[in-house]
Amino acid sequence: MARHLITSAIPYINGVKHLGNLVGSQLPADLYARYLRARGNEVMYFCATDEHGTPAELAAAKAGKPVAEYCAEMHALQERLSAGFRLSFDHFGRSSSPQNHALTQHLAVRLFEAGLIEVVSERQVYSKADRRFLPDRYIEGTCPNCGYERARGDQCENCTKQLDPTDLIDPRSAISGSTDLEIRETKHLYLRQSLMRDQLRAWIDSKTDWPVLTTSIARKWLDDGEGLQDRGITRDLDWGIPAQFPGAPWSGMEGKVFYVWFDAPIEYIACAAEWAEAQGLDAAAWQRWWRTDKGAGDVRYTQFMGKDNVPFHTLSFPATILGSGEPWKLVDYIKSFNYLNYDGGQFSTSQGRGVFMDDALDILPADYWRWWLLSHAPEGGDAEFTWENFQVSVNKDLADVLGNFVSRVTKFCRAKFGLSVPGGGTPGAREAALGKEIADKLRLYEGHMEAIEIRKAAAALRAIWVAGNEYLQDAAPWASFKEDPDRAAMQIRTALNLIPLYAVLSAPFIPDAAATMLGAMNCPGAGWPDDLSTALARLRPGDGFTVPEMLFAKITDEMREDWQARFSGTRG
Ligand SMILES: [Zn+2]
Repeated sequence: MARHLITSAIPYINGVKHLGNLVGSQLPADLYARYLRARGNEVMYFCATDEHGTPAELAAAKAGKPVAEYCAEMHALQERLSAGFRLSFDHFGRSSSPQNHALTQHLAVRLFEAGLIEVVSERQVYSKADRRFLPDRYIEGTCPNCGYERARGDQCENCTKQLDPTDLIDPRSAISGSTDLEIRETKHLYLRQSLMRDQLRAWIDSKTDWPVLTTSIARKWLDDGEGLQDRGITRDLDWGIPAQFPGAPWSGMEGKVFYVWFDAPIEYIACAAEWAEAQGLDAAAWQRWWRTDKGAGDVRYTQFMGKDNVPFHTLSFPATILGSGEPWKLVDYIKSFNYLNYDGGQFSTSQGRGVFMDDALDILPADYWRWWLLSHAPEGGDAEFTWENFQVSVNKDLADVLGNFVSRVTKFCRAKFGLSVPGGGTPGAREAALGKEIADKLRLYEGHMEAIEIRKAAAALRAIWVAGNEYLQDAAPWASFKEDPDRAAMQIRTALNLIPLYAVLSAPFIPDAAATMLGAMNCPGAGWPDDLSTALARLRPGDGFTVPEMLFAKITDEMREDWQARFSGTRG
């Protein structure tokens, strides 16, 4: 038994996430957490919503709501959908929590005292009408390159040219439309990441077991061009964690907040404090997961994220933690993912393209999605969701292989022996071979799960299901029943015993179906088969069971075509 801390990249607050987001962080993290719990480890799995930054302000304005109210509603919505997908967070926190405010400000002070934050004077656009400095994307004007009249201060949407606000012709505030703008001197805080380059490189170099996808991205940011750059960590926004606060060792940051990418990863820690508060526990309860001086020395910490998030988790956040000089737990393993594409293009939140979590649960139960997404996780390269592939995978793996096995075995037993496990007969060579085959495949499955090789784990699990079908086909109890009913009873008892085993092994992938299977076999508390031969004889003669409802319905061509058409455009 070991202690495992798991976090998945925290989803941004502005609306419902699509399936590409889900498979790139939360879903594989949930799989791993469920597996480790099933193996008897002490597991803490945290996720949260990432709530600060300009996009949240803009989305709230578009929805006509105060940003705090908007974020509270969206957090509740995301939490509900996470529960719908059976994501087993120990706590689903919020980066806007008081705990994250306090911790972010605390860490900034520590970094400043260590000489790793400097105050930099900059010239920036100020709007007198709005009485605030304007972030680049809050300034609009005419593009000097193409003449588009609604170009933003950071980029022209029409010709894609990168811009500075001072490039714009006839600049105006995107908030009020006012043209009464001027350039003013202002101050910002910069995190001096460049000073930590050698320390970060040594740390990355020590991670010889990390996936190349993770370390190659980190090294690119460390060394490409002029190397790791210092980074502005304050912004001119109302919504966020104030950069000027009682006890701040700097001045002139009034009206500024920390940049969302500074405070978001700190929420991984603050979320633990939120969890403790929600559980009515004291600080020691969460610090034993995060402070190596307070019990976290034996914790193994694994992070899950899409590849676009890797630089922030391999460099920026470790710079914050290492730079603080405090004994916070550093990540031990980063599992990163490529992108999942959608039917010949990309999933896109801004364009509403693809299948989103709410729509997905409207049309099918979570297990169907979990199985397809995990068994096609974008590990080696980008993966693609197509409705044809989804249909084939669900129908073959879930309905034909697993669902059909459970249905045939329980229904045959009901018809010939009744609703209790039949006694009689003695297992022979074929049963011994089945046991050996399952033992081998189980070791393979466990190895892939330990290594977080998700596609391989799914394939190994499927192979264990297939072994049961092949046994049933070979043993043919429907034939032996006519000549030797005792032999048929032994065969069906063997097959019935595979059902709770399959349920336990499959639960990390398809928890609802697993619970249904365990319920039908009257062993809801069945644990991991550490001793396989005991597990394969769990159901004894006379034990009662029920025939479960159909575990998985097949996806018909009509359904597939209907969904294909329904999700071909963009959501409103
Ligand atoms: Zn342009």
